[in-house]
Amino acid sequence: MTYPSDVAEWPSVELTAICRTPGCPAENIPFTGLYYENPEPPIYRGQCGQCGQPIETLLGDSDGQQISGPTRAS
Ligand SMILES: [Zn+2]
Repeated sequence: MTYPSDVAEWPSVELTAICRTPGCPAENIPFTGLYYENPEPPIYRGQCGQCGQPIETLLGDSDGQQISGPTRAS
């Protein structure tokens, strides 16, 4: 697959990211955002806005995964 030069034209999907870094203010709190596909695995890459660590848990409907865990941040 050839990707357009303009990233805005890349395939994208809305995913829910969950940071798993112990002690992070956002630990285990789901954040929904728009993620663009990458040409190489991992297809979707996230980074925690609180601790800056890579997000290892990305959940979405496209791969059949169900969002689990806490659904309210407050
Ligand atoms: Zn974090």
